Amino acid sequence: MTKWVYSFGAGNNEGRADMRNLLGGKGANLAEMSSIGLPVPPGFTITAEVTAAFYENDHKYPDDLKGQVDAALAQVEKAVGLNFGDSAHPLLVSVRSGARVSMPGMMDTVLNLGLNDTTVEGLAKAANDPRFAWDSYRRFIQMYGSVVLGVDHHRFEEIIEHAKLDAGVIEDTALTADQWREVVEGYKDLVEQETGKPFPQDPHEQLWGAIGAVFGSWMNARAVTYRRLHDIPADWGTAVNVQAMVFGNMGNDCATGVCFTRDPSTGENMFYGEYLVNAQGEDVVAGIRTPQPLSASVAKSGEIPLEKAMPAAYAELMEVRSTLEKHYKDMQDIEFTVQQNKLYMLQTRNGKRTVAASLRMAVEMAREGLIDEAEAVMRVNPSSLDQLLHPMLDPTASRTILGKGLPASPGAASGIVVFSADEAESRAAKGEAVILCRVETSPEDIHGMHAAKGILTTRGGMTSHAAVVARGMGRPCVAGAGGISVDYNNQMLSAGGKQVRAGEIVTLDGATGEVFVGSVAMIEPAVSGDFGTLMEWADKHRRMGVRANAETPLDAETARKFGAEGIGLCRTEHMFFDPERILAVRQMIISNTESGRRAALARLLPFQREDFRQIFTIMAGLPVTIRLLDPPLHEFLPHHDQEMQEVADSLGTDIATIRLRAEELSEANPMLGHRGCRLGIAFPEIYEMQARAIFEGAIAVAKETGNAPHPEIMIPLVGMKRELEITRAQVDKIAVEVFAETGTTIEYSVGTMIELPRAALLADKIADCADFFSFGTNDLTQTVFGLSRDDAGKFLPHYVEAGILAKDPFVSIDVEGVGEMVRIASEKGRAAKGGLKLGICGEHGGDPASIAFCEQVGLDYVSCSPFRVPVARLAAAQAALGAAGDRTA
Ligand code: PEP
Ligand code: MG
Repeated sequence: MTKWVYSFGAGNNEGRADMRNLLGGKGANLAEMSSIGLPVPPGFTITAEVTAAFYENDHKYPDDLKGQVDAALAQVEKAVGLNFGDSAHPLLVSVRSGARVSMPGMMDTVLNLGLNDTTVEGLAKAANDPRFAWDSYRRFIQMYGSVVLGVDHHRFEEIIEHAKLDAGVIEDTALTADQWREVVEGYKDLVEQETGKPFPQDPHEQLWGAIGAVFGSWMNARAVTYRRLHDIPADWGTAVNVQAMVFGNMGNDCATGVCFTRDPSTGENMFYGEYLVNAQGEDVVAGIRTPQPLSASVAKSGEIPLEKAMPAAYAELMEVRSTLEKHYKDMQDIEFTVQQNKLYMLQTRNGKRTVAASLRMAVEMAREGLIDEAEAVMRVNPSSLDQLLHPMLDPTASRTILGKGLPASPGAASGIVVFSADEAESRAAKGEAVILCRVETSPEDIHGMHAAKGILTTRGGMTSHAAVVARGMGRPCVAGAGGISVDYNNQMLSAGGKQVRAGEIVTLDGATGEVFVGSVAMIEPAVSGDFGTLMEWADKHRRMGVRANAETPLDAETARKFGAEGIGLCRTEHMFFDPERILAVRQMIISNTESGRRAALARLLPFQREDFRQIFTIMAGLPVTIRLLDPPLHEFLPHHDQEMQEVADSLGTDIATIRLRAEELSEANPMLGHRGCRLGIAFPEIYEMQARAIFEGAIAVAKETGNAPHPEIMIPLVGMKRELEITRAQVDKIAVEVFAETGTTIEYSVGTMIELPRAALLADKIADCADFFSFGTNDLTQTVFGLSRDDAGKFLPHYVEAGILAKDPFVSIDVEGVGEMVRIASEKGRAAKGGLKLGICGEHGGDPASIAFCEQVGLDYVSCSPFRVPVARLAAAQAALGAAGDRTA
């Protein structure tokens, strides 16, 4: 018999934290918290395996599920001394979903389940508080009605608004028991009207309805979108948690709240959170009432911290904070309820955090001895480092403030105002930067939040949906900007007499919560000391070197600043496009004679030599891999008449000749055409000039500094050993010449890119004549798949969406296919030449998943664009440490 149901609480904990795959994060941690002695109301978890069983079996549950649920429910009844459906002392339960990772978009929570027209009277008597009982009942109908029965939740809100109007009160809390009873009648009518059936009165029917809604929501469109965006497999499924209710809304000695054991925005080691007195969980999330702070030290005037309001519960919560951090060794995101001054824990999980917070916490926790340095290195998601290196508002830039809200997720963003998630998505798809502006967000808005550069809400706190989701996504977010009003009908933001219409620009500062009219200048952020510390720790643990792809002195400097240990790819053709040089390049291409080409190349030589001299100087003592000319010549041709005329004039010829030459050089498929070493073989003088520029530049630096660089000269697009032999001979010949001319000899090596399948398959032969290999995984992906690098963008997204490819193979290496080529070439190359140096310089060199693969294959280094160097350093360390587990940021 399969065990589908696991109990927790009241000394009967069948689950553990490490069972999250089976029990979901929530269920596993409820059991864990309970077993370390924290006050968790008893309940049970229906395993995530039921999801698959449910969908495979035509939306039917396994036969033995019902019996197991009944038995677990009986245990809960016994533990709390109440019976489910009992008219005098009814047990009420909450039903919540809980997947392996937190998943907005799914049915979330139904509270107070078990109430009906009879049990509500029992609850009223038992609690000696009819107002509480009827309020609880209406909350239940509202939640159940919207999430289980699909009635629009605004319809319920309308009924409350009417009730308040009739009663002449403003706050929900001012409604009396009888007025809530009226609301309940209205709700029941609404449900019957909308669903054609009366609101279910049988608690068991209610329970199975809610359980069914959780499993049903696993496949709803929002959940499917969320899974797609976050690479979550559909077969993980979700668990369902059924738990005895505790009430935060039984009076002023009751409360509910959400807190983080450290500040999730900055990472500071301070207790951070908010609570609402006399409220249930959904009140905090909905952001309808303004939550109060927990600690007295952070309370502003007029605020009532929990520490003052309920000192005993606060003290216990502080204990729990420390117990949980010590136990989980990570920042926890906690939900709690206080019922009549008694604290109950309803959830704990590793808290979502900003990148800056993730970095600070990792470093500080290691310093505190909570975790070790290696664990700290594993804690930060390498890809997220990007965000730290992104722009902030320039403090000196002029600006016009529109309003201010909470600094919910840091970073700055400018964009046009849009008011719906769909519009955010469609305009972003056209390449526009958009700021999604909403009163509040909900899981339906996820796609728009993802598409937006920034998110603004006018309602809700730091734990509102908008704040939590934006932080997770790394989007700047200003939440709860109450002074700004969002007018959906007129498509307008307004505040203090200023108005911004849809399509006009606003700027958000997610670090301060400010919203500005128009765009505001931005600057590069300064990285904190924690960044440097973590990078140092990462460097201690990584095996692979990290180099940069750079060809300008500026890029080389940036790369050094970010810790690059040399250059892995200097694409020399980028040096040809400079306006001063392009004419000489064009003269070379147009020339039909070797002497004509040599004359033009002679003009390019000083430029190239100076480029290399500068790069060698910046990279003093570090390896620099310079790739000889790669792209087809026609890329350098003059395009329009004016350019053609200029070349014609400089060569004393006419424009017709130039046009003819351009036609001769044009190719049907230039990517597979006359490029790479094929150019060097047809026009040896090109590679000879480049080799000369490299050696002369290197020798100049050797003489200037006494520290000779070691150039690594790389031949592109080699498919046959003979190609490398010929081009290598050209380079060696020039070396001999330059060394003789200058009287100085330097060390250098000559290697090749492995970027064609033939080169990979025959790597042992090619290795004979190569000092190193560098995998050009851009071309290798193109040629292994037979996919054009330039055209694949039009259809690859569809492939990814349809699940034909897990990821765009130009972004993250296709381990099975392209990766196999890399593996074969590495093995064959090293078998032929022990210790052959291996690197990668395609875009994949900056992608964490690809870097993990490079570690497995045993490459010596990865090379990537300068801004990704820190990402690569961290990813390489994690790869070396065997990064396989969960990452929190
Ligand atoms: C490659 O093909 O992976 C490579 C690095 O070269 P390029 O992108 O310049 O073709
Ligand atoms: Mg290439």
